[in-house]
Amino acid sequence: MRIVFFGPPGVGKGTQAHLLAQRLNVPLIATGDVLREAIASGSTLGLKAAEYVSKGELVPDDVMIALVKDLIERRAHDFVLDGFPRTVKQAEALKRALGEKGIDAVIGLCAPLDLLIERLSQRRVCPRCKRNYHLTLNPPKRTGRCDSCGSPLVQREDDRESVIKRRIEVYTKESQPLVEWYRGKGLLREVDGTGAVSQVFARVCGAVEIAQPRTPNRQSP
Ligand code: AMP
Repeated sequence: MRIVFFGPPGVGKGTQAHLLAQRLNVPLIATGDVLREAIASGSTLGLKAAEYVSKGELVPDDVMIALVKDLIERRAHDFVLDGFPRTVKQAEALKRALGEKGIDAVIGLCAPLDLLIERLSQRRVCPRCKRNYHLTLNPPKRTGRCDSCGSPLVQREDDRESVIKRRIEVYTKESQPLVEWYRGKGLLREVDGTGAVSQVFARVCGAVEIAQPRTPNRQSP
């Protein structure tokens, strides 16, 4: 299957995309993670992307389109895509790149604005294994350390309050038009992103018409 996760910052795309990729046993392509790794490594892509990511702006379409085309070519037939497309231009490029096989569904996650802001400002991430935590609702067992790999948790630079505001503005202006674009193509499956991770995942599974998960996953805001 080829599934795209779509929605505003903080809605839980990353968490849900990760779970679905595991469940479907297909590669996860998360453009935000790819960019953060590139920035950390100081690669040419990282140098180009850093100034946009830290300010909550979108990395230019031509850079993102070239990156994702390359990732898709290398990652085979099926995938879960998180963070791409974010503009209509990117969606058109994805359609061209995939040709006839196209994508199977776009999971459009939604949640109220105050919940998005609260989730983002309370989020801490493991830079190594990419696991996310919420300071009060889903804290790590050892303060400040990842449960999975023990690495020190960090706050993403773009999860600072001033940048969160900008990311939401950018989403509304640049990305929200994609809701209608994908609805018009009959691909959009809207999913309520509020509640625990396991509850949202059950809805996601329902939306892609696969079996419901039997064991609840960790809790979320
Ligand atoms: P994310 O981890 O998906 O929230 O992405 C973090 C940041 O990476 C975004 O705020 C953008 O600056 C950049 N980014 C990720 N994916 C894209 C994309 N498809 N187009 C442009 N910028 C992107």
